[in-house]
Amino acid sequence: MNKLFGFFAMGVIMLTSCSEAQNAEQPWIVDRFDDIKVIRYEVPAFENLTLEEKELVYYLSEAAKCGRDILFDQNFKYNLAIRRTLETIYTESEVKTGDEFAAFEKYLKKVWFANGIHHHYSNDKFAPEFTEAWFREQLAKYINEENRQMDDELLCKIIFDKELYASRLNQKEGVDVITESAGNYYEGVNQAEVEAFYNGMAAADANNHEPISYGLNSKLVKENGKIYEKVWKIGGMYSPAIEKIVYWLEKAATVANPKQKEVIEALIKYYKSGDLKDFDDYSVLWVKDTDSNVDFVNGFIESYGDPLGRKASWESVVNFRDVEACKRTEIMAANAQWFEDNAPINPNYRKKEVKGVSAKVITVAMLGGDCYPATAIGINLPNADWIRKEHGSKSVTIDNITYAYDKAAQGNGFAEEFILREEDRERAKNYGKLGDDLHTDLHECLGHGSGQLAPGTKGDELRTYSSTLEEARADLFALYYLGDEKLVEIGLIPTLDVAWSQYSDYIMNGYMTQLSRIELGKDVEESHMRNRKLIAEWCYEKGKAENVIELVKENGKTYVVVNDFVKLRKLFGELLCEVQRIKSEGDYEACKALVEGYAVKINPELHKEVIERNKALNIEPYGGFVNPEYELVTDAEGKVIDVKLTYPANYVEQHLHYGKEYSFLPSLN
Ligand code: ZN
Repeated sequence: MNKLFGFFAMGVIMLTSCSEAQNAEQPWIVDRFDDIKVIRYEVPAFENLTLEEKELVYYLSEAAKCGRDILFDQNFKYNLAIRRTLETIYTESEVKTGDEFAAFEKYLKKVWFANGIHHHYSNDKFAPEFTEAWFREQLAKYINEENRQMDDELLCKIIFDKELYASRLNQKEGVDVITESAGNYYEGVNQAEVEAFYNGMAAADANNHEPISYGLNSKLVKENGKIYEKVWKIGGMYSPAIEKIVYWLEKAATVANPKQKEVIEALIKYYKSGDLKDFDDYSVLWVKDTDSNVDFVNGFIESYGDPLGRKASWESVVNFRDVEACKRTEIMAANAQWFEDNAPINPNYRKKEVKGVSAKVITVAMLGGDCYPATAIGINLPNADWIRKEHGSKSVTIDNITYAYDKAAQGNGFAEEFILREEDRERAKNYGKLGDDLHTDLHECLGHGSGQLAPGTKGDELRTYSSTLEEARADLFALYYLGDEKLVEIGLIPTLDVAWSQYSDYIMNGYMTQLSRIELGKDVEESHMRNRKLIAEWCYEKGKAENVIELVKENGKTYVVVNDFVKLRKLFGELLCEVQRIKSEGDYEACKALVEGYAVKINPELHKEVIERNKALNIEPYGGFVNPEYELVTDAEGKVIDVKLTYPANYVEQHLHYGKEYSFLPSLN
């Protein structure tokens, strides 16, 4: 539930674009297609790690790459068969030219990027721009009895029939979100059956103060009238990939420090048993290890892909501490109780004692699964509420990724197009990156961890609206405190201009510019985008009488301008109070009214305008990455003496390489 992404994809990218020419050399961008740009990232200070730490990064990175197939399969049951077929045609093709082939290549690049045939953000199925006739010719030419992954007719129907499996994640009000979503977390069951199944489990567990995250690591199926879970574990579903992950984790354990060895072994135990109690044990050990320099996420973690927010996609991130930048988050953690005690919410819903706020800035060394190629810029884990309450959470912001985004956005012309006032552009130029970084830190480090539930509230009352509300809560916490004098006092910001720069950007993005990522006629679905729209539109409406936020029309263009930062901050505080109340009390009706009223429907005229203006700038709204590569350097006896880091810069080659070397699952699971 607690991953911050998307924010960045629009936030920083837009803000650092002031002076450079639009067609300046862009060495940070390695590929562009459709609405995507692929960026490379660097891993600074890797050479300063000890040999054992480097080796640990290497083994964990191998483990991170081994789960890629799992995510493809989770996203849609035929994704692996489709990817393999497309890759065969792509590599075998004698003629790699012509419009049809170019359209085919673009489609394949999109499939790699989305880990499947549905858009990673909108969840809509991709529309191919090559013809079915051409595609059938290729099938006839290159697909035979030996390399055929699935029935040709079904394959063509899936790719070319618009209506079939149209959305990976359909959370529209009033539809059966399970049967209408193409994701592979459920099969043969409907929403009512799923809810009954898990409500039954939760009821039996009602008095457990360490409640199990039921359903997190399994697919729920109905076969022969019987509903049961296929658990993702060694010996269960996805076993061939999990065995490889465990193989590399076992290697990692041999070079880890004693505390981390214990963490890794607990994870291995869980991968073997599939028992969610083991996962909790692992999570507790993991969250308590705040000393190790190298750290990692590896497992079934985030549940954004499940319409009911229960089943987790597989992901991995390998990282190490960014010592210099960590000073920022250390100050925050040291003041965590002050922030909690002064939050503008009902005092009953403040945490009496803030525990285990550990926040750090990290350098990512490898991205895998649901963090690749598109990744978060901040992570706050674990997700289990009781662990967060009793043992705290680990919160990170990822500096080398935000740095790469920032670099890739230079000279894109965005600020000139969308920011009306010179003073706002100037502020953005000077303080945009710092404002974004601090927003992320506050959101992850303090926002998600803040507050508490009222007695009797279980935490699952808000159902499909819970992610949006939770993201809004963390964002509002960050926004509110960013404009607090306290931040100047404790040395986090030199001036409140940092906050005002963030306020202008946030409101403009939430109200208007983020809409460029949504197809005309569609609603906002993704929870981070919904949250930003909710906040911007609510504040616009509530501040209208005093002109806090103004929509200025000039030369036929709309600009969103913040006129009064102090009053806007007050509105952030008021909304935070209400959002916290809704969460603490589990007030579903109020939550629904807020989300449906402000976060979903788009003004079609504004939507059209934003898309056109953005298109004219040629800025891809989404970004993702190619990974670096690591290689063990050994001496004559085969002993590891170093780990070599290189930066490949070819998106297609990386994916073909992964498809060949890190693909362990059958096409149908
Ligand atoms: Zn978040």
